[in-house]
Amino acid sequence: MSAGILIAEDEEPLRVLLRYNLEAEGYAVEETDRGDEAELKLRESVPDLLILDWMLPGLSGIELCRRLRQRPETRGLPIIMLTARGEEADRVRGLSTGADDYIVKPFSVPELLARVRALLRRAKPAEIADRLTLGDIELDRVQHRVRRAGQDLHLGPTEFRLLEFLMRQPGRVFSREQLLDGVWGRDVYLDERTVDVHVGRLRKAVGHGGAPDPIRTVRGSGYSFDETFR
Ligand code: CA
Repeated sequence: MSAGILIAEDEEPLRVLLRYNLEAEGYAVEETDRGDEAELKLRESVPDLLILDWMLPGLSGIELCRRLRQRPETRGLPIIMLTARGEEADRVRGLSTGADDYIVKPFSVPELLARVRALLRRAKPAEIADRLTLGDIELDRVQHRVRRAGQDLHLGPTEFRLLEFLMRQPGRVFSREQLLDGVWGRDVYLDERTVDVHVGRLRKAVGHGGAPDPIRTVRGSGYSFDETFR
């Protein structure tokens, strides 16, 4: 599925140019020329990335950005802020308001596209890749296959989802509760020891033949995929 991008920009030629080029890159683009309209759209659905002009009628980009960061639904939304040259002093303000990146007009389209790609990669690494590779472990999300050093590993469906979940954010420590939510789903009530059981099975499958254990137990906290495992 292609990533969705909302453009909030009141200069029509620029909006048209951005839309044209982003669509040519395969993104699903929506646009608006007003800040207040952008806010309404974002309440209806959250795109994968927002390109936000600094000065917009209805509601300024900076105020919209601040509001978006206060809502849990849009707290992590990648935002690229656009502004006119000479507003460098605002740069710091823009970033402190919560924009992820900042581009000064006039900018080149390839530069913007590169920033968009970089930000989407950073924000959603696992949503884009069909294959996750860390160290000698390769997880193919499409074929539902895991290989280690080229050998197929045999994981149960829960162990597969657990490994995928951990590999998406290597180094990040997840509590048992977070793992239950992320892997089993929020509506399921299970004892937290269930997580330990499946981590144990996963370790057994992944560590087949005495290979190093990529899963780290963090005492009192939970588990993580070892970041130093390469
Ligand atoms: Ca403007």
